[in-house]
Amino acid sequence: MSASNKSPRSGQSATPQDSRGRTSATPRSTGSTSEPQLSALKVGGARSAARSSQSLTRGGQPARTKQTGRTRHEDRVTRADRNDRTIAYIQAKDAQQKKDERRAEIDGRVSELRARREGREQVRPTPEGWKQAMGADGRPELQFATKKRVTQPPTHFADLTLEERQAKFKELGLPAFRAKQLSVHYFQHYTTDPERMSDLPKDKRQEMVDAAFPTLLTEVKRLTTDDGATIKFLWRLFDGSLVESVLMRYPGRVTLCVSSQCGCGMNCPFCATGQAGLTRNMSTAEILDQIIQANRVIAEGGLGGIRPGDHVPERVTNIVFMGMGEPLANYKRVMNAVHRMCAEAPEGLGMSARGITVSTVGLVPAIRKLADEKLPFTFALSLHAPDDELRDELIPVNSRWKADEAIDAAYEYYEKTGRRVSIEYALIKDMNDHGWRADLLAEKLNARGKGWVHVNPIPLNPTPGSIWTSSEPAVTREWIARLEAHGIPTTLRDTRGKEIDGACGQLAAADE
Ligand code: SF4
Repeated sequence: MSASNKSPRSGQSATPQDSRGRTSATPRSTGSTSEPQLSALKVGGARSAARSSQSLTRGGQPARTKQTGRTRHEDRVTRADRNDRTIAYIQAKDAQQKKDERRAEIDGRVSELRARREGREQVRPTPEGWKQAMGADGRPELQFATKKRVTQPPTHFADLTLEERQAKFKELGLPAFRAKQLSVHYFQHYTTDPERMSDLPKDKRQEMVDAAFPTLLTEVKRLTTDDGATIKFLWRLFDGSLVESVLMRYPGRVTLCVSSQCGCGMNCPFCATGQAGLTRNMSTAEILDQIIQANRVIAEGGLGGIRPGDHVPERVTNIVFMGMGEPLANYKRVMNAVHRMCAEAPEGLGMSARGITVSTVGLVPAIRKLADEKLPFTFALSLHAPDDELRDELIPVNSRWKADEAIDAAYEYYEKTGRRVSIEYALIKDMNDHGWRADLLAEKLNARGKGWVHVNPIPLNPTPGSIWTSSEPAVTREWIARLEAHGIPTTLRDTRGKEIDGACGQLAAADE
């Protein structure tokens, strides 16, 4: 616990008094962190504690020690006085800090005070190069639903269960068993090309493909980096909306970061996606088609640069919902997509739920709903700040559900499912990477229990001249060490795609 959290002992005045009872060392009440004047602190009570028998010289005088030239009684009094002065000093300092913090709390600036104490700055979140949409209450505007009426893309096989696909084909006067064959082509061979469907009658192939697989994603741009281990795709949807996905190869796994909404209504000041607000929710099939397209690229050898001996899976093994959009604001379609990812082929992709991470910036009612889904996927809370003062500005939805409510909901998720929760924390230089925030985060997590959570600090891309830049390496190390010292398992996440506008939404924003 930091000194600022200690409280003076009850019944004792926090303000030290001199031997005559004057309050000579009263800290200034100007709001600054003035140090109490030690020299003025005199506490008389201790002297009586030191009275005891003393050895005497032959002349009947008390003996003096060689080291100090004082009698042992005087030595004891001096030591007791020093101890009392130290206690009084600490109490006065604590009292002053509490006063300062209370005042800063009232001003909404406690984080600046704490940053100063660490010899650091407190940079406040401000959008750069764009203006954040503000609501009538003067806060960043949140958009949970689209403002205008939007159309969804035509129904695609990936929107439907296998049974529903068969029913659809029957309705169209096509044999139901063809629905299963087409599902195999899509979910297992990653193709919608009629030329490659030799098990279907040639004269009917195009008709069936048109009915099952309306075009959902058209590739606009593909950027490759990290020696071919990272590919960023920009897709145009049927209505012209642009979304991104990022494919990343790691030893033994291939991860795809998918988008779940066109734009986003959460209005985070650091995020390119949020700038234009929410256009519409993506359909289940649009979410899934990002994986099919990625699997096709892998099958064609697109994730090149593989070293001999590297074990690289032949398809996407891990999904993170950390692309464009707030996944839990598009709850139904996202969960349909997750269920279809896990369904056995040809109903779905037959992926392991454990490789799927659903993240949120803290939509508390939806987190509670998530705990009732019967799939063991990973849940991640993008917290980015443990204190409401900063989080209100950094993650505007925090004005609706506070940091503690989001952490409570994450803990409830763990209690209900037994699955460990991830806390995502983008480390931003001088904004949220102060030591006291690491301590506060650890205290908040430990207060709810042990072993239920894992923290993933994410280094931001270094952006010289921007307030949205990565923490210094030493600060990052210190931040992680503090969490670990509190017993919180912490893993620094890898960032990919630094050269290709790697942060979510940057590519789409550049192409608008
Ligand atoms: S950070 Fe995520 S939730 Fe916030 S605006 Fe961007 S996409 Fe939306």
